[in-house]
Amino acid sequence: MQLHFDVDGKVETICDRCGNPLTLQLWDEFNLIIKLVDDPDTMNSNEEDPDIFYIDRHESHFSVAAWIFEFINLSIPLQKVCKETEKGESTCNKEILDQLQKFRSNPNEIPNNKIWKDLDKFKNLGD
Ligand SMILES: [Zn+2]
Repeated sequence: MQLHFDVDGKVETICDRCGNPLTLQLWDEFNLIIKLVDDPDTMNSNEEDPDIFYIDRHESHFSVAAWIFEFINLSIPLQKVCKETEKGESTCNKEILDQLQKFRSNPNEIPNNKIWKDLDKFKNLGD
């Protein structure tokens, strides 16, 4: 039995680079081949093809909920960043990126924050 899944929809997330809200259009398709066998557990643990799944040949139902969840997760890109313009320019929040760049090149200028205060004690230990 061969099942075919089309993932088509939108996901609300934030940009990995600048933190701006981001709507991603998802589109992907997956095939799953279900085979009826006598010993599905052993067959599944020995099967290397992720598109093949074994169930007991006496089984009358097969739940696809977990598979749909998995396929949706797989269709979300690993890196989620703001779109580029037609000229290939980033549409990320430039203000945020400038701030991040400033902190990176001058880590000492990070505003005084209580949570870092105790770490100052360790600053010169390595010298
Ligand atoms: Zn961005």
